[in-house]
Amino acid sequence: MNHSNNAVWVFAEQRDGEFLPVVYEILTEARGIAEKLNTNLCAVAFGQGVTGKLDQLAAFGAQTILCTDAPEFSTYTTGVYTRQLAELIHQYSPAVLFIGATHNGRDLGPRLASRLDTGLTADCTSLDVDADTGNLLMTRPAFGGNLMATIISPNRHPQMATVRPGVFKAMPLPGAPAAAVVQATSQVQSGDMLTEIVHVVKEKSQEEDITRARIIVAGGRGLGNATGFDLLQELADCLGGTVAASRAAVDAGWINNARQVGQTGKTVQPELYIACGISGAIQHLAGMNKARTIVAINKDKDAPIFKAAHYGLVGDLFQVVPALVKQLKSQEKGTKS
Ligand SMILES: Cc1cc2nc3c(=O)[nH]c(=O)nc-3n(C[C@H](O)[C@H](O)[C@H](O)COP(=O)(O)OP(=O)(O)OC[C@H]3O[C@@H](n4cnc5c(N)ncnc54)[C@H](O)[C@@H]3O)c2cc1C
Repeated sequence: MNHSNNAVWVFAEQRDGEFLPVVYEILTEARGIAEKLNTNLCAVAFGQGVTGKLDQLAAFGAQTILCTDAPEFSTYTTGVYTRQLAELIHQYSPAVLFIGATHNGRDLGPRLASRLDTGLTADCTSLDVDADTGNLLMTRPAFGGNLMATIISPNRHPQMATVRPGVFKAMPLPGAPAAAVVQATSQVQSGDMLTEIVHVVKEKSQEEDITRARIIVAGGRGLGNATGFDLLQELADCLGGTVAASRAAVDAGWINNARQVGQTGKTVQPELYIACGISGAIQHLAGMNKARTIVAINKDKDAPIFKAAHYGLVGDLFQVVPALVKQLKSQEKGTKS
């Protein structure tokens, strides 16, 4: 028997030879899916020189790893990756395939689904298995985020979904055994190499990655203008946190869109999320409602954000935030003296 047949597959995307954090997040979630389907969890890794890094995938629960280690896989290109993954799927018939909803994953998923004549549910925020039918239940926001739709693919295989980075928490599997590694030869043909990567130019981002922040101070339209974020930065600095924003603040041009939290922004799961002048629209909540502690500061006591918050401060943020900063600074002085 081959361990990859009917298995749950996770595409292990790498960049510069390092697997992306979303791979570990999906592997963590996919362990439960494979268990419910009573099947094997398999990671599929393409790259050049990735063979030495496969233990990291096993540590997060991959029981089998299908690896293709060859120069043409060092950097992602649509034709090459699609060909290889499609050939492996024909060979092993996995039941399920998960791909991270990264820029490359969003390119690869639809191309592959089309080639395999199967469905693809993009940007899933939760995954489960129907106990009666064994169908994968793929849930994602629909109709502008106003409802959550659960999608199934009962007649087409593999059942494919992309998963947004930051939606699931990555947790290593304690005592994970070593994985069975299968080296797959490249099936790429010259016609698949439609693009050639001549040079990769990395944009130097000044922006912090809000998906990795432990503490976030987020601002919305209630800030009134871009300088309102200076106040939030002061609070974030006192707490060792990072500043983020609602879409309204981003659309107004007050802050870079890399800082946007929500359905069309990033999904964050910090220990502490302080929402200042944010009403709590469903599309915003979709990106932050898994934060461990949510504090809302809003002058409207009926603002929906208070329903999601663990602690609420009804008041003008231009009074509340400076008061918090003052308090935190005086505490800091107290501990230093
Ligand atoms: C398809 C789609 C995708 C979307 N994706 C996203 C997304 O990813 N992220 C996102 O955030 N939104 C998203 N939105 C937009 C979302 O619906 C809301 O319009 C947006 O979140 C509102 O931002 P806000 O809370 O900053 O502004 P508002 O809703 O205008 O709220 C401002 C709040 O500030 C409070 N306030 C005003 N002044 C003060 C003050 N001085 N002190 C304290 N409180 C004050 C007000 O009481 C109010 O509650 C999306 C919408 C659609 C249709």
